[in-house]
Amino acid sequence: MLKAPIGILGGTFDPIHIGHLRPAIEARDALGLAEVRLLPNHIPPHRANPFCSSEQRLAMVALAAAENPGFVVDERELQRDKPSWTIDTLIELSQELPDTPVCFLMGMDSLLGLPSWHRWQELLDHAHLVVSKRPGWQPDYPGEVASLLARHQTRDVQDLHQHRQGHVWIADNLPIELSATRLRALLAAGQDPRYLLPAPVADYIRRHRLYQPSPSR
Ligand code: ATP
Repeated sequence: MLKAPIGILGGTFDPIHIGHLRPAIEARDALGLAEVRLLPNHIPPHRANPFCSSEQRLAMVALAAAENPGFVVDERELQRDKPSWTIDTLIELSQELPDTPVCFLMGMDSLLGLPSWHRWQELLDHAHLVVSKRPGWQPDYPGEVASLLARHQTRDVQDLHQHRQGHVWIADNLPIELSATRLRALLAAGQDPRYLLPAPVADYIRRHRLYQPSPSR
């Protein structure tokens, strides 16, 4: 007998915002997820720098999780000193949780780009995929994604409970047109971010003077 499925949401979370949180809350409730784990990604030092440190991104994710029943933070990717592939994280989780279906949550932009992910065809061997609609990304699936969906898409929630992996669920969530890029631009322009992210996260950003207008403006 399997336990109730859990959700995993990986992201840069620079910063975490309602475009991450609303679809995750709706997935928790619509799919009966026992837990949603927020998993901040490690960002390699040589890549386009995140605007905040790992500690600051983690602190903001923890503040967001604390407000939401069932939400927890999973620090595993930050604790490694190199980026981890999603496939490795999913294999690790499925070994740790042998009786629990794992639903990997992602936005439509991520599904459309899935064929560029490392060992993407193996992801469904270790988890389900739960995809949220995202304005700006239409479900015009490239061939490889269309054929993945033809084989794995389900419209029966029970499939996510009765199997540990192997199904794709396209959610009917309220689309939220917000990205962290847009939010950073708004903050850098000195605008009030209220209602676009949790109030404790907005307070944290203000206290730590993150994403501020540059002095030359
Ligand atoms: P950035 O603008 O810095 O690229 P982002 O807002 O797109 O950031 P990420 O941390 O890259 O956020 O995203 C993590 C996950 O959350 C991805 O699967 C992404 O598809 C999803 N996501 C982010 N914003 C939304 C949104 N508005 N609606 C649905 N899914 C979203």
